[in-house]
Amino acid sequence: MTPASAKIPVTVIGGFLGAGKTTFVNHLLATGTARTAVLVNDFGEVNVDMSLIASHDGDTMTLTNGCICCSIGTSFIDTMCRVLDAPVPYERIVIEASGVGDPWKIAEIALIEPALRLDQVIVIADGSRIVQLAGDARVGDTVRSQFDRCDIVLLNKIDLVDADGLAAARAAVQGLRPELRIVETARGAMPALAQLETGPSLSGFRVDSPSLDGTDHGAQFSSWCYRRDGAFDRAALADALADMPPQLLRLKGSCRLSGQDGRTIFQMVEKVWSVSPDTVDDIDHGSDIVLVGVGTADLPAAAMLDAILDRALVVEPVLSFTPYPAET
Ligand SMILES: [Zn+2]
Repeated sequence: MTPASAKIPVTVIGGFLGAGKTTFVNHLLATGTARTAVLVNDFGEVNVDMSLIASHDGDTMTLTNGCICCSIGTSFIDTMCRVLDAPVPYERIVIEASGVGDPWKIAEIALIEPALRLDQVIVIADGSRIVQLAGDARVGDTVRSQFDRCDIVLLNKIDLVDADGLAAARAAVQGLRPELRIVETARGAMPALAQLETGPSLSGFRVDSPSLDGTDHGAQFSSWCYRRDGAFDRAALADALADMPPQLLRLKGSCRLSGQDGRTIFQMVEKVWSVSPDTVDDIDHGSDIVLVGVGTADLPAAAMLDAILDRALVVEPVLSFTPYPAET
């Protein structure tokens, strides 16, 4: 039997769409020293989160083709084999679950693989939205089940709520499992992994095979990918986003904005969106604009969503149509 010390510790990070998982993964990589394999599962067809993860002393690997918690397919197994067979062994594995996934089901992999040791299952909750999300008729079941067997909750984005809002958010999480340890966090105020060490896993639940219980997040949620060459006009983009249907829960990716050099990271959680200069991404996505959306199963057809965003594209002047000789 492999001694416990020789096993690679696995940390699984879960949390609903837009909670701040990727921000926390980057924080762990910036504050830790272990050579880390980061496995990122994005629900959409393009793994946007992978390109948002900063370079580190280790490797970042992508797990695509849907939610791995309910379809542990060859992509996940192949990636795990690569991690375990690496010529220079990894000292830690961090798995970022998809925003709709159940992090515990991923953690179960670590429990059955003798070379791995489950360290922690950390679920991140958006402090400004958890009350609403946990009670939401469409997504509440998915949101609440993510907390069922985690060890620690990071109640994130507490800088966005007042004292009453924070108390309500804490109560919403505590209401799911009163014994849960809650650590309050915000961007720029996150704990290192060592500060979260709790000793034995709280859940104390062990299995000898992954419990694929028939959950199919691919049937409960849908994704959409928008790809275009060109650039968005910022004001027109704001108008277009305001017209996005309520079924769209999350939209993120990389784009270009008219009048700005370089790529821009785009993030939207429900109707709140932001753009920031892309300082990490050196991956060629094949198009100037690649955005991945995740919504409920009744998300309108891709063509309709495409048409809304197409209104925000800058129309480049076509010089060959100019009736007068172009100035040189
Ligand atoms: Zn799943």
